[in-house]
Amino acid sequence: MTTALVWLRDDLRVADNPALTAALKTAERVAVLYVLDDESPEIRPLGAASKWWLHHSLRALSRAISERGGQLILRRGPARRVVAEVVAEIGATSVHWSRRFGAARAIDSDLKATLPDAHSHNGTLLHEPWSLQTGGGTPFKVFTPFWKAYRAGDPPRDPFPAPDAIPGVEAPSDSLESWDLLPSIPWDHEFPDTWSPGEAGGQARLDRFVAHGLALYHRRDEPGVEATSGLSPHLRFGEISPYQVWHGIEAATTAENHANATRFLSEIGWREFSYHQLFHNTDIHERNLRSEFDGFPWSPPDPAILGAWRRGTTGISLVDAGMRELWRTGTMHNRVRMVAASFLIKNIGIDWRIGEAWFWDTLVDADEASNPASWQWVAGSGYDAAPYFRVFNPELQAAKFDPDATYRLRWVPEFGTPVYPEPVISLSDSRARALADYTTMRGERQP
Ligand SMILES: Cc1cc2nc3c(=O)[nH]c(=O)nc-3n(C[C@H](O)[C@H](O)[C@H](O)COP(=O)(O)OP(=O)(O)OC[C@H]3O[C@@H](n4cnc5c(N)ncnc54)[C@H](O)[C@@H]3O)c2cc1C
Repeated sequence: MTTALVWLRDDLRVADNPALTAALKTAERVAVLYVLDDESPEIRPLGAASKWWLHHSLRALSRAISERGGQLILRRGPARRVVAEVVAEIGATSVHWSRRFGAARAIDSDLKATLPDAHSHNGTLLHEPWSLQTGGGTPFKVFTPFWKAYRAGDPPRDPFPAPDAIPGVEAPSDSLESWDLLPSIPWDHEFPDTWSPGEAGGQARLDRFVAHGLALYHRRDEPGVEATSGLSPHLRFGEISPYQVWHGIEAATTAENHANATRFLSEIGWREFSYHQLFHNTDIHERNLRSEFDGFPWSPPDPAILGAWRRGTTGISLVDAGMRELWRTGTMHNRVRMVAASFLIKNIGIDWRIGEAWFWDTLVDADEASNPASWQWVAGSGYDAAPYFRVFNPELQAAKFDPDATYRLRWVPEFGTPVYPEPVISLSDSRARALADYTTMRGERQP
């Protein structure tokens, strides 16, 4: 009997999974493995909210595999060792996985060189970073030509159906509970009201968005309106693939919603662009992509002000609403992420890496590409970034995008009452300081 091993990582699904499809085609038995690798230096340790998501996602995946006759094998340890051990234990003659694009691909290359018949597949991105380059043969640094180049190519392939059966292999597995992924303090108790981790939850989100959100997507910048898909954590953990999303949207596109659908697909494009950046800069969460920012005069973090930002008690209502939404649900509306990040970086003057790390710990969609790329976009240190001197005014942003305060009052009910605090910092003074710091970085004389 031939046995194949499928090693799942950021592709926690059975439908449209090219690695699983290929393994089932070539072997009579298929073992499915997930490795919790918190030892290899190439893997960025998961944040607390991501661990919560992973716990529930693995539980859903395990159920989907056992319903098809298979078993999800859970093991913990450095992947180079653990995967080789499992291959030997079950006598696998081939191994399949979906490619990843950050520093962890060094692990995959090492395993590919030593394992029998190892195959990598593309299950995570519509484009692979080496498949698109500028006319000059260099990586794209600007989104619009990147996306134009992608759209000029072949349309995305059709998704693969979920297999009916996964003839499995019995092998010892850790218990999910023994991994202690759930938080030790009950800070996550509101997460289940917002989220259903797992493949079925991702598909339900897509269906709901197609039925209700797509027609409203031109209002995606208004945090008080449910106009966006909420698909980001499902995409992050690969519970739904970009191919499934793409075709789901295309099938629902009509003359009326065409502009909204095009815009939505371009946001999927931003996810692709973030991975393009990660592939070419695997240290993107640590290093300014524009090196002139290496000399930026960041302020030493004031614990009281940084704490107020994290807790949502800065006295700036849109920032506070976003930071509280983040803490209570593990997500934050995109427009508010931009404003909260800009406030930390530019008004408070704190290095973007400190904010990025907080989001990494608290977002359920914390993504090794999109999170640092977006923080660098706000800071001005990234590719195709907002210029540093464009400092969002959170009060004007609130007036424009949350005019009746629906969103702010949902998360900050005391807003507008005497108990709501005064701003921790003057917006106009801090804006002036930010612009002066920028001038210092550029080595220009201040007026
Ligand atoms: C400071 C900051 C940090 C961010 N960190 C993350 C992160 O860790 N993970 C993450 O997935 N997104 C991140 N984003 C991008 C964006 O805020 C989220 O993808 C979006 O809010 C998710 O909500 P949604 O699924 O309803 O989005 P929708 O508007 O429904 O968009 C559909 C999908 O497109 C992708 N997408 C949308 N906007 C972007 C974007 N600007 N960059 C990359 N992909 C995008 C996401 O996969 C999203 O699910 C960040 C943005 C900022 C400003």
